[in-house]
Amino acid sequence: MSATVYYEKDADLSQLQGKKICVIGYGSQGRAHALNMHDSGLTVTVAVRPGGKSAKQAQADGLPTQPVDQAVKDADLIAFLLPDPVQPAVYRQFVEPLCRPGLTLLFAHGFNVHYGQIVPPPEVDVIMVAPKGPGKLVRDLYAAGQGVPCLVAVEQDASGQALAKGLAYALAIGGARAGVIETSFKEETETDLFGEQAVLCGGLSALLKTGFEILVEAGYSPEMAYFECVNELKLIIDLIYQGGLRHMRHYISDTAKWGDITCGPKVIDEHVRANMKKLLDDIQTGVFAREWVLENQANRPVYRALLKREAEHPVEEVGERLRSMMKWLG
Ligand code: NAD
Ligand code: MG
Repeated sequence: MSATVYYEKDADLSQLQGKKICVIGYGSQGRAHALNMHDSGLTVTVAVRPGGKSAKQAQADGLPTQPVDQAVKDADLIAFLLPDPVQPAVYRQFVEPLCRPGLTLLFAHGFNVHYGQIVPPPEVDVIMVAPKGPGKLVRDLYAAGQGVPCLVAVEQDASGQALAKGLAYALAIGGARAGVIETSFKEETETDLFGEQAVLCGGLSALLKTGFEILVEAGYSPEMAYFECVNELKLIIDLIYQGGLRHMRHYISDTAKWGDITCGPKVIDEHVRANMKKLLDDIQTGVFAREWVLENQANRPVYRALLKREAEHPVEEVGERLRSMMKWLG
């Protein structure tokens, strides 16, 4: 079943006009949301840690700032644009005591609410507006009169206006110009985690490294292995981004196409499919979330150790050497 998509005509900015909007976190998303809402005529205050880097940045950008405890006070809408692992503590310290009818809590990713790391009381609205692109693009396209498509979701609708507020927010940051796709906290969280684990980050980096290792172990030079298994990915991805798989296949040779359609399923076989289903199962049952929450509570020992090991993989050393020959990369 296809999702409902909303556009500018479905959104009413007056839902948020004259309300106090507090943005906590001034990084990739926070800066873009705050600046776009400000330029859309909404009343935005950025909650900052006094003297911090983002406090200076927000002030340089001409936005009103306040320390977190003051900024959240009598806010009508609080946008959580902090790193996800930081949000629960900030919620408990500054926001939970203020929860009252009429308050809206807004998230750009569903993890904390879906997995119960933040449990807002029933009298507040809990919504999500999540742009499907990085903050810089959200800001740049808005400034150019366009927008990045967004997701909108309602977890709690105490006021009866939760969706309308979400659509107004999406309009104010430019997303409604492109389209706002309706989803749920559960669907956004689970599909986001699955995508990054199985395909975009986990699956892809393991695929590249394994291809590289097989060629090097077979005696081919690491330079050749790197070009063929890693570097050329950029060409392929750009073609898929532009026009899908069919467009990519239009530009590769017939030999590459034949290898693609006959050998791909031999790599991504039933065994890999079963592994992917297991990842999804761990996401759906909360097993992955528990592991990541506990890892953070333990100050990330496994995270640090594995990232260090990854950074020392030969594929990184060869890549660095080859990139130094590609001056245009800057
Ligand atoms: P980020 O890391 O770029 O920025 C986080 C900001 O929070 C920084 O300015 C940091 O200084 C500030 N911060 C950290 N701890 C703080 C504290 N205790 N008090 C006050 N400020 C604090 O984060 P981001 O990538 O913009 O992610 C924010 C949210 O948006 C997350 O929920 C994320 O999942 C979601 N999201 C991100 C993207 C993306 O492309 N980056 C896309 C969609 C959704
Ligand atoms: Mg993701």
